[in-house]
Amino acid sequence: MSDGTPRSRVLILGGGFGGIGAARKLRKAPVDVLLVDRHDYHTFQPLLYQVATDILAPETVGHPIRELVHAQDNLDFAQATVSGIDLDARTVTFEDWEPQTYDYLVVGLGARANFFGTTGAEEHAFPLYTLSHAIRLKEHLLRRFEAAAKDPSLAADGTLDVVVVGGGPTGVETAGALSELFYNVFPQDYPSLDLSAVSITLVEHGDRLLAMFDEGISAYTLETLTERNVTVRLGESVDEIAADHVTLGSGGTIPAGTTVWGAGLQPVPLSGDLGVELVRGRVPVTEHLHLEHHPEVFVVGDMALTTDSPSGDVLPQLGSVALQAGEHVGVTIDRMERRHKDPHPFHYVDKGTMATIGRRAAVAVVPPHHITLTGRAAWAMWGAVHLALLTGGDSRMAAMSNWFWSFTTHDRPSRVLVHPDDED
Ligand SMILES: Cc1cc2nc3c(=O)[nH]c(=O)nc-3n(C[C@H](O)[C@H](O)[C@H](O)COP(=O)(O)OP(=O)(O)OC[C@H]3O[C@@H](n4cnc5c(N)ncnc54)[C@H](O)[C@@H]3O)c2cc1C
Repeated sequence: MSDGTPRSRVLILGGGFGGIGAARKLRKAPVDVLLVDRHDYHTFQPLLYQVATDILAPETVGHPIRELVHAQDNLDFAQATVSGIDLDARTVTFEDWEPQTYDYLVVGLGARANFFGTTGAEEHAFPLYTLSHAIRLKEHLLRRFEAAAKDPSLAADGTLDVVVVGGGPTGVETAGALSELFYNVFPQDYPSLDLSAVSITLVEHGDRLLAMFDEGISAYTLETLTERNVTVRLGESVDEIAADHVTLGSGGTIPAGTTVWGAGLQPVPLSGDLGVELVRGRVPVTEHLHLEHHPEVFVVGDMALTTDSPSGDVLPQLGSVALQAGEHVGVTIDRMERRHKDPHPFHYVDKGTMATIGRRAAVAVVPPHHITLTGRAAWAMWGAVHLALLTGGDSRMAAMSNWFWSFTTHDRPSRVLVHPDDED
């Protein structure tokens, strides 16, 4: 029963893994929660490449935020774009809404693609960080192939060739999925095109792929992609991107009608409003995940330089870290409000790291003994884990049926071009 004291107001900025994690853990807390995102959907970023390569429909990877918080009586959602954070006034301003005040602030606004100043990247590269990015890439590829179906010479002049920049999970997963699309699916869709003349090149400036894993996994990944007709250029950088080619650091050029960018993150500009110097492009937080001089302001997910306690290890920018950090903050605020004065430091539980290369090929490291898996076993595990993590039962069902269908038929059910500007 209420004692008449006004309830504290928790403002959560961002409905990503971090924001949703915090919101859910506040479900039973004696607070009023306002969750704000510029989109009305939550994006499951790990599967964006499957939208770009027609395996999954956009609705499977973007889930309505309102639906995620239906059952939460103490929470309101607003679709609005944050424009500023005033820590002294405890107020957040928006491009398209009136300012909102808070008692606690949880900031989980993610990060954005970093082109590292590469000439032409802003204009010509396709990053893969948001659902709009994935749809843009999907449409671009389909339009290229439809154009080539009318003029097959385009298959030979590099228009259909793709360069993928970055040999981390995003680049590897995208290159593997493109290989399957180009060499297993499209030959049936475009029988008039000689797709053996179309190239996919993965450029990585380090000396191995998936460098966060051990060397054996990097070697397996290189071998598997090469077998699947992806040309891998290690120890190479991309200096310039144009509409029809990339120029390499070593001086050569590669024809490419499409350049996919999967090579790095940079802070969102709003990180600058938090009054601290960024470290490695991320906002440093205490072991309780709040700003050093503002115990009421928590920063979670890709934005934050999160460390594990007690090891002190800096944690990577991963969905699992963002989700657990968000949940930890939700629990911490609940405890503070219930006058439990002893919030615990954040401890990250590693539930495994994995990446898929394509059909029957993936890599995984499974705790607690860091067992390494490759091939079918890792692929099955990757599928099971991503199904379990996908947000919403309907998205899970849709992913399962699309995966089953594309695995058994080599078909891509989401391979359609729909544009809202189309007249009919
Ligand atoms: C292609 C790709 C593949 C990945 N694969 C994996 C994987 O396999 N496993 C894994 O663990 N992690 C993976 N990650 C990383 C993981 O997705 C991120 O670490 C995670 O999404 C970060 O969560 P977050 O809550 O910090 O940010 P996000 O999930 O990015 O959420 C930020 C939210 O803030 C909103 N927002 C941003 N700016 C504003 C604004 N001004 N106003 C209002 N709202 C705003 C956005 O709309 C978004 O909803 C992958 C990432 C990418 C890009």
